[in-house]
Amino acid sequence: MTGNPEELKVNRREIYRYLGIRSGEPDQATQALVESVLKELTDNVQLREFHQMFPLHVPQDELHTIDMTCFRTHSRSLEKNLRGCSDIIVMAATIGSKVDLLLRRYSLTNASRGVVMQAASAAMIEAWCNLTNDAIKTEAAGRGLYLRPRFSPGYGDFPLDNQRDIFQALQVEKRVGIALTESLLMIPSKSVTAVIGAGRDHLPCVREGCEVCSKADCLYRRHSAAG
Ligand code: SF4
Repeated sequence: MTGNPEELKVNRREIYRYLGIRSGEPDQATQALVESVLKELTDNVQLREFHQMFPLHVPQDELHTIDMTCFRTHSRSLEKNLRGCSDIIVMAATIGSKVDLLLRRYSLTNASRGVVMQAASAAMIEAWCNLTNDAIKTEAAGRGLYLRPRFSPGYGDFPLDNQRDIFQALQVEKRVGIALTESLLMIPSKSVTAVIGAGRDHLPCVREGCEVCSKADCLYRRHSAAG
């Protein structure tokens, strides 16, 4: 799927946070710079994503093993989050390679704009993932399924190595235009892979993840460390 950059809801607060502004509003000059950078990014991003649903099986006799049909992994925190799910959606998304060219150019010619662009482009790939997540949620609802939050390799004890499996399962390079280096870096840099559990239990999940969810007593709550 491709997307329309004008439809992205980029979280300004997140950009300010990446810039080290934890509370209050930034000064007008900073706000104007952020808006100018967002406009430039909107004119240059190429939104692409691909996702696919697979049957999910969590073998009871193999500790913390998760069988996603397209690959298997071991993760205590992911297994906890996926309890009760029947399916898994595997996704890959990017805002494109022109962003990396801009980041490189500004790092040489205008460092302060480059720093703001790093923050704004990080928030923008998040916004693109959220938009994709919303479309997946609608598709899943059509099958009577509800989503758990997104979970990316490298988060908690979900091995980063599983990037390779996701790339192979979805043919990410061919379908989405993202390359994976030997050291597991994605090119373009503002790219994300993730898995999303789906099941019949209607939990009040928030797509931004368990960390910002207010359901403190949730049995499926994941942790950034294994747990
Ligand atoms: S803590 Fe919230 S977001 Fe996480 S699994 Fe539970 S309901 Fe869903």
